[in-house]
Amino acid sequence: MHNFSTHKPATVVSLAPQTRPTQGKVWLVGAGPGDAELLTIKALRAIESADVIFFDQLVSQEIRELFPRGVPSIYVGKVKNCHSVAQTDLNQMLVDHAQRGLTVCRVKGGDPFVFGRGGEELLQLRQAGCDAEVIPGITAASGCSTSADIPLTHRGVSQGCTLVTGHGERELNLSWSALAQLNHTLVFYMGVSRAELISEQLIRAGMAITTPAAIIENGCRDNQRVISTELSSLQQAVEEHKVQSPALIMVGEVVNLAQQLKAIEPQLSATGQYQSLSA
Ligand code: SAH
Repeated sequence: MHNFSTHKPATVVSLAPQTRPTQGKVWLVGAGPGDAELLTIKALRAIESADVIFFDQLVSQEIRELFPRGVPSIYVGKVKNCHSVAQTDLNQMLVDHAQRGLTVCRVKGGDPFVFGRGGEELLQLRQAGCDAEVIPGITAASGCSTSADIPLTHRGVSQGCTLVTGHGERELNLSWSALAQLNHTLVFYMGVSRAELISEQLIRAGMAITTPAAIIENGCRDNQRVISTELSSLQQAVEEHKVQSPALIMVGEVVNLAQQLKAIEPQLSATGQYQSLSA
C-alpha cells in the first residue's frame, strides 16, 4: 500500500483563477500531400480546436477550406528563396500565442518530420517551455506513389526505398555511389530544379541510363500529373512538360509497375459495376 505519510504537506499557494498561468498548446500538424481525405482524424480534430492557425504553401486549398470560419489563419509559407516569415520569428509567434493560453495549429504539408523542419520547430518550442506535439501526416512519397500507382517497394523488384532531398541547406552533400548501389527505389523531394544533377550523378555512380523514373507533380490533387521517363531524360522531361513545384522524382524499377497496373485498371461498366479488362 502506498504510504502517503511520507509526502510533504502541500505548500503550494493556490492562485486566484484570474492570475493562474494558462498554458496553451502548439500542434505541429502534418496535413498530407493535398487531398483533404488523406488528413488524419487527429489532424482534423486539432485544426477544428485551434484558436489560431499558421499554414504554409504546401497546404492545399482543399485543406484550407476545412479551417474553421472565424479562426484567424495566417500564411507563413515561403516563396522560393524567400521566407514570408523568418523561421525564428515564426517560432516566437507560436510561443507567444501558446503563452497566452491559445491552442495553436502550425499546419504543414506532408509529414512535419520528413523534410518539414518539424524537428527544429519542436526543439525550439520545447526549449521555450511550450507544450508542443507533432501530428504525423502522409508524406509526399507515400501519397504520390499511391496515387500514381507506383509502389514504393515491391516483392522481387525493390526491397526498400530511400527518401532524399534534392536541396541542401548550402550545397547538396549526398553519397551518390551509396544511393546508386542500394538497387532500390529512390525518392527525391525538392529535386525538380536539380533534375540534371540527380540523373548525371546517379549515372556516373553506375546506375543504368534506362532506369525508369517518374515525376509526380501536384500529387494527390485534382491537377496531378505523372510523367514517366528514364533516368537519362529526367531534365528533358522537366523542361518539356514545364514541371512546376510541388513535384517529386521517383527513380527505380517500381516505376514500370504503373504501366502494368494501368493495363488491368478496372473500367466502369455500363451497369455502373467495376469490371476488370483482363477478366
Ligand atoms: N514535409 C513534406 C515535404 C516538404 S519538402 C512531406 O512530408 O511531404 C517539399 C517537397 O515535397 C516538394 O518540393 C516536393 O518535392 C514534395 N511534395 C510535397 N507535396 C507534394 C505533392 N502534393 N506532390 C508532389 N510533391 C510534393
